[in-house]
Amino acid sequence: MPITANDPNRKTWLETNPDTDFPIQNIPFGVFLTRDDIITIGTRIGDYAIDLGALHQLGYFKGIDLTDDIFLQDTLNDFISDGRKTWRLVRNRIADIFDKENPELRDNENHRKHILFTMDEIEMQLPVQVGDYTDFYSSKEHATNVGTMFRGKENALMPNWLHIPVGYHGRSSSIIPSGINARRPWGQTMPEGATEPVFGPSKLVDFELEMAFITTDANALGEPIPVNEAEDYIFGLVLFNDWSARDIQKWEYVPLGPFLAKNFASSISPWIVTLDALQPYKVEGPKPEREQLPYLQYKGNKSYDINLEVYIAPENAAETKVSTSNFKYMYWNMAQQLAHHTVNGCNVNSGDMMGSGTISGPTPDSYGSMLELTWRGAKPITLSDGTERKFINDNDTVILRGFCKNDKVRIGFGECRTKLLPAIKQ
Ligand code: MN
Repeated sequence: MPITANDPNRKTWLETNPDTDFPIQNIPFGVFLTRDDIITIGTRIGDYAIDLGALHQLGYFKGIDLTDDIFLQDTLNDFISDGRKTWRLVRNRIADIFDKENPELRDNENHRKHILFTMDEIEMQLPVQVGDYTDFYSSKEHATNVGTMFRGKENALMPNWLHIPVGYHGRSSSIIPSGINARRPWGQTMPEGATEPVFGPSKLVDFELEMAFITTDANALGEPIPVNEAEDYIFGLVLFNDWSARDIQKWEYVPLGPFLAKNFASSISPWIVTLDALQPYKVEGPKPEREQLPYLQYKGNKSYDINLEVYIAPENAAETKVSTSNFKYMYWNMAQQLAHHTVNGCNVNSGDMMGSGTISGPTPDSYGSMLELTWRGAKPITLSDGTERKFINDNDTVILRGFCKNDKVRIGFGECRTKLLPAIKQ
């Protein structure tokens, strides 16, 4: 089925800014609270939030096989379970409804009143109930940088790294939408030169610039997903900040990997940009440096050219861009990650979230964490207000942004914005 919603020549009757993240070619999905305190599933064009529950009740999805309440829910999980064919039909229909040439809703003021909200009238919620969250470690530059810092240049990459999309099972309960604050965590650390651990607020809170993909029900327990079918089960992507406490991490991670250093908060952008919308931005990925096992070998392009940026805004001061990276740098792509995740028969459900791992590029300004940008604090970053950062200070806001752009259309992800509050008093 063609993705007519991606037509680069389509224009909408809604007023949109030319460099919006949300032109009519995007049509992401999210969940929001309306001005009447009603929760609904919606989409966004320009600075308008569109109530899909109201559109459906008014008959605009006639002919598409949807249950009556599919959009009157507080998560997208059931809609995502309907599968790729339905996502595509709905996105194509939304594009038609808001097409400049289509008078049906454009000229119906009463319907428009029920369907359209301005962004300041609504409050974005988590788009899915995340059953399980997995975080990968798939940027070779990031793994090399961190390995160099902790083990030296010679042993930077672990022997398994070029053969396995390394990952761990994370914690879904602490995934928060953009706009919700995080707290500096308390924990156990082993200070440099000490012989006994200490307990206190983390001194080294960091962001991790990541993207996360959201899956549909993909497989029955015991049945792997082949790498070349994996993308059929990916609904879309969000920006993802995998908050990390480096001092806690360093002490606790042996031998089972990240635990309390990572599960105090992970932030996501609230609009899920569909994999369908990202099709025009597919690019070739990095060439494998070692031959990969057949179950990880794929055909065609499975990387995506998504520009990524990180900003830090101190309290009452302007933001400073601290990193410029790109999703295309990932050594292991999403299809390989999902194929690997299920190769042992592990089943994946609707609403599961898979983090990419920190996305660092080849140059020092493209590193995806403060750990790398300041090289463990050795090279502090000066912000535009003149203050220096080695890691994230109390009351700093970290903002991730992402967008794709070709000569015709720019589509973006909006923001993933989180303020770090001071540790609670204990
Ligand atoms: Mn991570």
